[in-house]
Amino acid sequence: MGSNGAAIVTGASRGIGRGIALALAGVGFDVVVNYARNAGAAEEVGREIEGLGRRAWLVRADVSVGADRERLVAVTLGAFGRIDLLVNNAGVAPDVRADLLEATEESFDRLININLKGPYFLTQLVAREMVKKTGTGTVSSSKIVNITSVSAYAASVNRGDYCVAKAGLAMMTQLYAARLAEHGINVYEIRPGVIETDMTGPVKAKYDELIFEKGLTPIRRWGRTEDVAKAVVAVATDLLPFSTGEVINVDGGFHMRRL
Ligand code: NAP
Repeated sequence: MGSNGAAIVTGASRGIGRGIALALAGVGFDVVVNYARNAGAAEEVGREIEGLGRRAWLVRADVSVGADRERLVAVTLGAFGRIDLLVNNAGVAPDVRADLLEATEESFDRLININLKGPYFLTQLVAREMVKKTGTGTVSSSKIVNITSVSAYAASVNRGDYCVAKAGLAMMTQLYAARLAEHGINVYEIRPGVIETDMTGPVKAKYDELIFEKGLTPIRRWGRTEDVAKAVVAVATDLLPFSTGEVINVDGGFHMRRL
């Protein structure tokens, strides 16, 4: 299979990002595997991508740091000469789930910096490159995908910082979608529900009860990283060409009001 282009997936060493990176390799993308600390896990993902016959490039970069974002883009262009797809997936939960009346400014800054400021300015850098390339006809239809959360609209008073950051990321999707449409660049928000990863490990018992006993989601199971990855693949392979600024819920039906 020829290459479908080059994708950057932030936070691709583990969890949802890892699932996205492997699924993209499966449909022909070369992938830049970005991570923060966990080099061993990133190397494993790189090997799996190569096992699928695609090229992988590992880049350790903290998305909340400007110089790291610049290096991430520069290394990608050096390796692949183009960026066809950016998946803003890297994100963190608060270290402690603290009540809104107790939560710290330090936690707020950390969450905003990694979950919102990082993708906001990484997208700005990547979008400039995409606009240049689409103008020269080098890249046909570039895309940007933001992985938000049901927390973009569901209020959890013990992690207000996370909710506010994800709500901001949802608006960021609209902003870039509105700005980039004239350049043929579509921007999508994928909004996962409860997905089984390291992030949800500490609250597994709570969500087991909510899902299996209390009917939190009409589809009564945990979400899998593959569920989110399939939505990214749909977008990446151009199955939604006349949609931009679109929200794709991958949440087992959590978002529906029920009576
Ligand atoms: P995870 O298992 O904790 O993995 C997080 C990934 O992000 C890791 O690859 C980590 O790299 C990377 N990362 C963390 N901070 C980073 C930084 N500053 N710069 C670059 N990379 C960084 O999390 P996940 O559950 O897969 O979540 C992925 C995304 O989905 C997040 O944005 C999260 O908010 C969102 N989400 C998750 C769920 C869920 O239920 N799990 C639901 C809705 C939305 P290292 O391995 O190097 O630490």
